[in-house]
Amino acid sequence: MRAELQELGFDSREEALRFLKRLWREENAACPVCGGALGPLHRKAKKDGCDFLCADCGRIYRTIHLLDEINRVMPDVSGKAGEK
Ligand SMILES: [Zn+2]
Repeated sequence: MRAELQELGFDSREEALRFLKRLWREENAACPVCGGALGPLHRKAKKDGCDFLCADCGRIYRTIHLLDEINRVMPDVSGKAGEK
């Protein structure tokens, strides 16, 4: 089952992006739905670190898909995407 952005309960774009960044850095990110541990979906494909699986609830986190959703549902209102 693919995790959809609206069921993850992020309050803000910042919070959602923080979650994705944790996954990309391979920090210990918890499943936003059930609090379980997330691991890489494809164990062998080190290079393809984009998809993650929650061992507890079985949700699949496709980070590229979620990033698209975040940009659509929670657009960067500053109008300076990529600038800090
Ligand atoms: Zn879970």
